[in-house]
Amino acid sequence: MKAFVTGGAGFIGSHLVDKLLDRGDYVTSFDNLSSGKKDFFKHNKKNDKFRFVEADLLNLKQVKKEIKGHDVIFHIAANPFVRLGEEQTRLDLEQGPIATYNVLESMRLNNIKKIVFSSSSVVYGETPKIAIPETYGPSLPISLYGAGKLAGEGLISAFCGTFDFQTWIYRFANVVGIRGTHGVIVDFIAKLKKNPKELEILGDGRQQKPYLHVSDIVDGIIFGFEHSNDQINLFNLGCDSNTTVTRIAELVVDELNLRDVKFNYTGGARGWAGDVPRFQLDISKIKKLGWKESYTSDDAVRKAIREVLDNQ
Ligand code: NAD
Repeated sequence: MKAFVTGGAGFIGSHLVDKLLDRGDYVTSFDNLSSGKKDFFKHNKKNDKFRFVEADLLNLKQVKKEIKGHDVIFHIAANPFVRLGEEQTRLDLEQGPIATYNVLESMRLNNIKKIVFSSSSVVYGETPKIAIPETYGPSLPISLYGAGKLAGEGLISAFCGTFDFQTWIYRFANVVGIRGTHGVIVDFIAKLKKNPKELEILGDGRQQKPYLHVSDIVDGIIFGFEHSNDQINLFNLGCDSNTTVTRIAELVVDELNLRDVKFNYTGGARGWAGDVPRFQLDISKIKKLGWKESYTSDDAVRKAIREVLDNQ
């Protein structure tokens, strides 16, 4: 299979590229290196089946040219920072639906029909305290990032309805692990390296979310792709457990061998405007196909802390 991976130099995208190459697929990684890193794919440079294109999805002409000849598109690129929407209100519009439209239109013009999309649990918005199934609605996101993801899903669904595309849409839980460049673990480690006595924690620390190890997410993406064949294959991808922010802080402190660190909470139920403080995904749909996460949320967090520390 000839795969085209947008965001292939990023955290999740680079692991996906590795997995596809391991399967024997040809891979083009298309990335503008805005948050991706050359280091994340340097080990693949000598692989004849790997090609890297440094370019921007907002350049429709170039996307059209580079996408030609591929069998399936893994559209992973996006602005990954949910909080940025508070300051840059156009960002998630451009890096979300507009970039996604450029991918879809380039596919249409090149007669490519299959697209795999990295969406997010934040499309659900503020939800009741139940494990949220894919059928939950209405989806009313509370961040601009979430709106961008939902709009991307809508465009993909419309290209399926209008141009007979086929899609695998995954709504990810929080993803952690080696090559992670952002998020709560990276943030806590950086803060504690600066000041090992105190740690600022956004919100009240009781925010509670499922954390999935990156190896599990990549495994789930490929598993769903291989084991479902509807026109629109929509899956939550997470784990059945979850971890509080205070627990993550304790695990980071423990892994750094620190003692008596004072936790300073900024207060309030959520970390920032647009943060969904508590959610749990119902992942029974993908489990019924035979997929299962390898790590609980706490284990994924601890493993990721070790990996991030080892890599520094
Ligand atoms: P990341 O920043 O590491 O990866 C995104 C990649 O896309 C980067 O390599 C970046 O350089 C590239 N990119 C961004 N804009 C681009 C553009 N206009 N043109 C070309 N390349 C561009 O982030 P990640 O955590 O690996 O996230 C990957 C995907 O998964 C994103 O779509 C993100 O929204 C989604 N997601 C991530 C998480 C998580 O916890 N990490 C959770 C839910 C969904």
